[in-house]
Amino acid sequence: MSITIALAGNPNSGKSTLFNALTGSNQYVGNWPGVTVEKKEGKYKKDKSIKITDLPGIYSLSPYTLEEVVSREYLINEKPDVIVNVVDASNIERNLYLSTQLSEIGIPIVIALNMMDIVQKNGDKIDVNKLGRLLGYPIVEISALRNKNIDKVIETAISVAKTNHVHINSFDEEVEKYIKEIESQVSSVGMSENRRWYAVKLFEEDEKATANLQISDAERKTVEDIIKRAQEEFGDDGEGIITDNRYTFISSAVADTVKKGRSGMTTSDKIDSIVTNRFLALPIFAAIIFLIYYVSVNIVGADITDWVNDEFFGEMIGGSVRAYLEGASVAPWLTSLIVDGVIAGVGGVLGFTPIIATLYLFLSILEDIGYMSRIAFILDRIFRKFGLSGKSFIPILIGTGCSVPGIMSTRTIENENDRKMTIIVASFMPCGAKTDIIALFAASVFAGANGWWFAPVCYFAGILAVVISGLILKKTKSFAGDPAPFVMELPEYHMPLVSNVLRTTWDRVRAFIVKAGTVILLATIVIWFLQNISTSFEFVEFSEDSSSILEAIGRTFAPIFSPLGFGDWAATVATMTGLVAKEVVVSTFGVVAGLGEVGPDTDSMIKYAASVFTMASGLSFMLFNQLCIPCFAAVGAIREEMRSAKWTWFALGYQMVFAYSISLMVFQFANVFLLGNPATAWTYIAGAIFVVMLYLMFRKPKEAKEMAKSAVAESGK
Ligand code: GDP
Ligand code: MG
Repeated sequence: MSITIALAGNPNSGKSTLFNALTGSNQYVGNWPGVTVEKKEGKYKKDKSIKITDLPGIYSLSPYTLEEVVSREYLINEKPDVIVNVVDASNIERNLYLSTQLSEIGIPIVIALNMMDIVQKNGDKIDVNKLGRLLGYPIVEISALRNKNIDKVIETAISVAKTNHVHINSFDEEVEKYIKEIESQVSSVGMSENRRWYAVKLFEEDEKATANLQISDAERKTVEDIIKRAQEEFGDDGEGIITDNRYTFISSAVADTVKKGRSGMTTSDKIDSIVTNRFLALPIFAAIIFLIYYVSVNIVGADITDWVNDEFFGEMIGGSVRAYLEGASVAPWLTSLIVDGVIAGVGGVLGFTPIIATLYLFLSILEDIGYMSRIAFILDRIFRKFGLSGKSFIPILIGTGCSVPGIMSTRTIENENDRKMTIIVASFMPCGAKTDIIALFAASVFAGANGWWFAPVCYFAGILAVVISGLILKKTKSFAGDPAPFVMELPEYHMPLVSNVLRTTWDRVRAFIVKAGTVILLATIVIWFLQNISTSFEFVEFSEDSSSILEAIGRTFAPIFSPLGFGDWAATVATMTGLVAKEVVVSTFGVVAGLGEVGPDTDSMIKYAASVFTMASGLSFMLFNQLCIPCFAAVGAIREEMRSAKWTWFALGYQMVFAYSISLMVFQFANVFLLGNPATAWTYIAGAIFVVMLYLMFRKPKEAKEMAKSAVAESGK
């Protein structure tokens, strides 16, 4: 017999950890809501006939977020045989709120009481038998992280699925009578398999859940009437009455069964008292980020990457392939395509793999131990003052790996304005691909000035760009409004789990390598051809005019970027090809430099970059590439999440204008004030933009103005 088991529960309750342990698969385990925004399916390791579905984390079955809708539509339409409700035992009261709702769907339930290791460590006691009796569900105590008792969850789930016994928690008598009344008065509800579910949803006036019920006008009137009577009795609307009733039930059940152990501070509390401290939090965060980038880009970057690039791709592969091809009398152009094009372009990107791997390793550790969740919390506390929600920072922190999942995770944001705003700014962070460009610049343009500060500066520039944009956008009518409240379970700190950390790191590194072998390879070949074919369609080497198509394109568009300091044709072309994938910026320099004297290695790339850029134009180039329109994949994600062509264009337009303004200011001010060059007309334009930006950031928001106006009108009466 085949059985389908659905894992449902709050964000961060450990569903994905349990799913991985049961199915042996490699779902991403993250410490924040929004990591699993789509359901994932797998098969039980020990019995392939058992199908397991990992659902997005939800706090309730209301229709307010996309995850809630995904989860509840799955449960109602696909009807799994049994729900395993994963409950975080260390946060039991909040978690059980969902449990009381799940039973109404009409599917048997088993509670997997997870994180029992934490409960034990804290010295708390849970009377599981009694709690099970009160709730009416079987409970299995587990620790998904430590692999404790997880098979018993499946055994229990199977036996419950076989009996198909559904226990429904009743509300208090006074509330229950209204629900029963709806069940008996509305015929389509009474006949439905999900009778209870629809009755409650009608009472709560949840339109989405009841949309496909066939209700006559008379019945609709009856329901309205029932709700009105309840409202008179309780002084609250249907949804409020139900919510209140659930909470009362849970808190009395928890009071009866859970005994807190020591009331003192746990280890996590002690760590938090330092790292989330009002004054220390940000300096500690900054120090950690500096350290991570310093180690990744400068220590690992300097030695390993040099070796990989120069010895490995340059001498060993590039050199020997060239010798081999020349020995085999392969046409010179083909040799050049392979050595100067593919090996230089793709090799130039792959050469940075050690940096990316180290960076991802550190970020995964920070996330796995629970530190990154604190960052969202800390940033929330600060940025709320500016009208930004910490929820917006989760996509942005995820975007430090890759913007695509970052943009996708905006689905956790209920407020549509905040969600759109977050999609627009999520790609401002330096993702892995952009880290490639950063590494190239740290090793070249900024090497003389001890480039160690360059990478972290880009990271914080990303955060600053988010804040500035947030301030500007929030002042406009389309994005106005208070930030939504931000609730997030701060998980207990734990030692990094080697398998988790390595899995996350490897997933990202693999994606990076796959990209190098596909998109970047293709782009590199195209770039090589454009660079080797002259504008009169002959090979550059043999042509009258020695200007390649690539160079011609670059020169055509270069004037646009001259005010930003990088009107060099290769820099212009690199910026354009970077839209395919940001790594291609590096490959473009690789191909262009590789065709010069030295050969395909970082050395020539570094020399080339150092000859093209000053520190001012280098920083401006970097920031422009970091902040402007992201790669195709991320643009696709923006389109998908915006679900509107108009808003997609707005996002891309905003990113372009914003990047241009920032780079212009950075270059012009650095050029004049730091390098002591004379000011030009562009310097004054940059100054004007600076003033406008300050105005846009700090003017009174639209709403406040209107409110002030009406207040004046009121007092005038
Ligand atoms: P999901 O959001 O429900 O999918 O939760 P995840 O599986 O992503 O886990 C959230 C966090 O809780 C991760 O940091 C896990 O390592 C941690 N976690 C999961 N199960 C346990 C457990 O049994 N004990 C402890 N201490 N931590 C756990
Ligand atoms: Mg998950």
